[in-house]
Amino acid sequence: MNDFTAPPLLQPALQLDAIRAQFPILGEVIHGKRLAYLDNAATTQKPEAVLHALDDYYRHANANVHRAVHELAARATTRYEAARDRIAAFFNTAREQIVFTRGTTESINLVARSFLQPRLQPGDEVLVTGMEHHSNIVPWQLAGAKTVAAPVLDDGSLDLDAWRALLSPRTRLVAVVQVSNSLGTINPIAEMVAEAKARGIPVLVDGAQAIAHTQVDLATLGADFYCCSAHKAYGPTGFGMLWARREHLEAMQPWQGGGDMIRTVSFGGSTWNEVPYKFEAGTPDISGAIGFAAALDWISGVGLAAIAAHEHELLEYGTEALMGIPGLRLIGTAADKAGILSFVLDQAHPHDVGSILDQEGVAVRTGHHCTMPLMERFGVPATVRASLAVYNGRDDIDQLAAALKKAARLLS
Ligand code: PLP
Repeated sequence: MNDFTAPPLLQPALQLDAIRAQFPILGEVIHGKRLAYLDNAATTQKPEAVLHALDDYYRHANANVHRAVHELAARATTRYEAARDRIAAFFNTAREQIVFTRGTTESINLVARSFLQPRLQPGDEVLVTGMEHHSNIVPWQLAGAKTVAAPVLDDGSLDLDAWRALLSPRTRLVAVVQVSNSLGTINPIAEMVAEAKARGIPVLVDGAQAIAHTQVDLATLGADFYCCSAHKAYGPTGFGMLWARREHLEAMQPWQGGGDMIRTVSFGGSTWNEVPYKFEAGTPDISGAIGFAAALDWISGVGLAAIAAHEHELLEYGTEALMGIPGLRLIGTAADKAGILSFVLDQAHPHDVGSILDQEGVAVRTGHHCTMPLMERFGVPATVRASLAVYNGRDDIDQLAAALKKAARLLS
């Protein structure tokens, strides 16, 4: 009798071909070349499961939610609210704490207007980091706060000692990006949340670049607010969420008024619906919620541990491949990094590099990536950014490296 039991795999292997087959757009031919889609930090492509959920909703359940008594309205409402449950389960939190928004940007603006602004005193600060996306800087300024930024070290990691030293009695809020969209740096948010909270300072985490790559447990993170966008996690564009502590949601005044967010309305005044609906004025993006839930289910099906392991392996492969290209300078080499490769190529303008890569079928982003202060920190106006997702493989990196060698030749 064979009593040998194979040891369990530490990481379940990822079936790349099977995953790619679920993304029809990856079959597109670009300028006669195979598509190497490496612009995932801007937006990810959508699997069949998400496309099907959107299509099926519009074919079989489309109606406005929460209002009519007819069958289609019931179907739409059921699917929409079931999506909230599935999204809450993915993040290990309660459905009442999930406010649907247009995405990370709108979520941060909501916190700026409904939470920060009414509490602001003259001289109050929001402590951010030097690697924030503009959407985690400008809303605080619009609300009237001063933004103070903790410096970024040469390798693209946060200067944590300097960040700590900037926490002060004037700090009304800490706002920090979990994963930098320009550098890939992973910030030690658990540690930062604990330190800020120990001083009684609320914390907002921008998770836009995190949720498709790492498990986020909102029950244990300890933050006050968490923001993310569906489209960076295989879901539809223009949809996202704000997670907040229930006591904040209860205490905050709504930011936008209109249908669905009220309990009673009269010309003398109005009262608000319960959370989270009091922050969801107007007809929501119903299919967005359904698509986001389908995307998160899809991620769970593949497994975040397997996704993270695959992307990490590819990041190492890509880093080595790019370092072999003469004149290429990688920007962002922190020890703890997600799948983002930002770089400049000698004197060549990143836009010119990007155009040549496009001709070779390679989709990357070029520009400041909505992080102008960070570009200034590294003394560059822009970078070329290749960003990874679960469907990328070594062939994409090889195609990128070959195209970069061509660009280097043509632009030198
Ligand atoms: N924060 C980070 C780190 C991002 O990468 C982005 C998008 O690039 C945003 C915020 C804004 O996300 P959205 O445009 O989906 O609102």
